[in-house]
Amino acid sequence: MNFFLTFDKNGNVSFSPFRERDKLNSSVISCLGTPLSLANIQVVQERLQRQDPFAFWRKGSKQKDTKLEILKIIKALGWDAQDLTWEDVSPTSEIDQSRVDEERDNEVRKAFNRLVLGRQLSCGDLRGLARELKIKDEEITKLAHCSVEQGSAQWVPAVRHNGSGWQCQRCGEKDVEEWPSLCGMAATCRSCESIGSSSSLDVLYRDQRSLMDGPSEVLFRPHWTLTEAQRLASEQVAGFIRDAPEETALLWAACGAGKTEVCFPSAAWALEQGKSVLFAAPRQDVINDVAPRLRRDFPDYPLQVLTGTSLVKFQSGGMVLATTHQVLRFWCAFDVVFMDEMDAFPYHGSRALAWGLKHALRRNGKILYLTATPSPEGLKGVQKGKIRLIRLPARHHRTALPVPIWERSRHSLEPNGSTGVWVAQLETLRGQGSVLVFVPKISWVDPWIKCLQRRFPDWCVDGSYSSDPGRSTKIERLRQGKYDLFVSTTILERGITLSGIQVVVLAADHPVFDERALVQMAGRVGRTRESPAGSVLFVSTRMTLAMQTAVQWIEEQNRLALELGLIET
Ligand SMILES: [Zn+2]
Repeated sequence: MNFFLTFDKNGNVSFSPFRERDKLNSSVISCLGTPLSLANIQVVQERLQRQDPFAFWRKGSKQKDTKLEILKIIKALGWDAQDLTWEDVSPTSEIDQSRVDEERDNEVRKAFNRLVLGRQLSCGDLRGLARELKIKDEEITKLAHCSVEQGSAQWVPAVRHNGSGWQCQRCGEKDVEEWPSLCGMAATCRSCESIGSSSSLDVLYRDQRSLMDGPSEVLFRPHWTLTEAQRLASEQVAGFIRDAPEETALLWAACGAGKTEVCFPSAAWALEQGKSVLFAAPRQDVINDVAPRLRRDFPDYPLQVLTGTSLVKFQSGGMVLATTHQVLRFWCAFDVVFMDEMDAFPYHGSRALAWGLKHALRRNGKILYLTATPSPEGLKGVQKGKIRLIRLPARHHRTALPVPIWERSRHSLEPNGSTGVWVAQLETLRGQGSVLVFVPKISWVDPWIKCLQRRFPDWCVDGSYSSDPGRSTKIERLRQGKYDLFVSTTILERGITLSGIQVVVLAADHPVFDERALVQMAGRVGRTRESPAGSVLFVSTRMTLAMQTAVQWIEEQNRLALELGLIET
């Protein structure tokens, strides 16, 4: 989207997406005939200010000089700009509108204002909203520009000049693709293109209004009682959200300890205070899991649920549950952010998503990361004293976490038809429940299924991996306890609770299994009240640092839980 530079009768320079008289601010008296990208308008602004810091956006007598100066700058930049003249604009005449139109316009404006609060939207997103509101693209641009003129929103170039380079304003990426356009060099960001294009020729609409219009009455009706461990953590979370000096905290929970509900009382408090709340997670399945729990415990409160990457959804309300990709469509919108599974794909290792989450936070806002396996950056922040650490070391059934046992294999764990001594242990494990066998590569799944089927002909053996078309059916059968043995890649490492499951990690020394993956896989065991214990076996030819760290983390959770009297001895 491009903009026309404008001059008003008071000598102010501004810009508008329109050049037509009836759509311009009534005080505009002239307008540049050629539209420019917002990024280029900013280049003009910077050059002009460099010559005379007070020349731009100034009032009064020198406007003729300023107009000439602007033309000179654009010509000097060598942009292929036709029709480079200032056109006079006569004062706007009153436009007759019937009363019905006025009412309809008011309704549309209200709906627009309700749906864009705190949002950062591309032109494509705005067009999507126009379709939803059943209005023309031009009309939505007008509504957006009206908010900008009233000072409640801003237009920003989607990718802008930043010193000698460029920076995407949606995801913060500096490593962008540069290309020659008719108006000089342009740049496109690839890091956030999954939610729509972002280039220096595009703009973002940033709404600066709060999602909340003051304190609200919140009916918080929890359908659960916090365990002793959860209550202790929940009090610390409340202390952090209400009056801690730190902006960031890390809730380090044992796998299956119920960390999400620990945050609900603080979310209720924040909403009552008129603060906006975001629950974010990298993966859609976590969102799908949390949404019914929030709806159940906050029965009257409108919850915006935004999942997936590409589709933009427009809802209203001061509490939002969203994937980290959807969070890129918010700007300075939330007072309190609860970020679940900070160490999971695709958030972990994505500069863009981390930048987006930080910038979705309002000034003096609080962000709490929830995880069972903190990232190195998170732990570093704790060590430096920048991040407050809150622990939740015990599960609800007061039984210690199963500590993995290392079974050394003399032979490689490649699926070559032979098995090691560890196979004999599968029979013992099967006595306790179904056995989940993790392997490091997709190509190992089928050979290991065949090999284990030969060894245990009476057992029901199957397996799955990310691209398996039968994956969801098999996982459903696994939940129903239909398999004796199930071979899987790390797709089942998180987010699944299977009663009575036992875990074997084959080639636990493989580089694909870092300490986080190992803790998560081990964390599948003993999650339910019916089977609170179980076995975890790490099978490998050698012991790696990741294996050692995983065992240390689990033992440390147990030690802490015991000290606090949160598990039975
Ligand atoms: Zn980007």
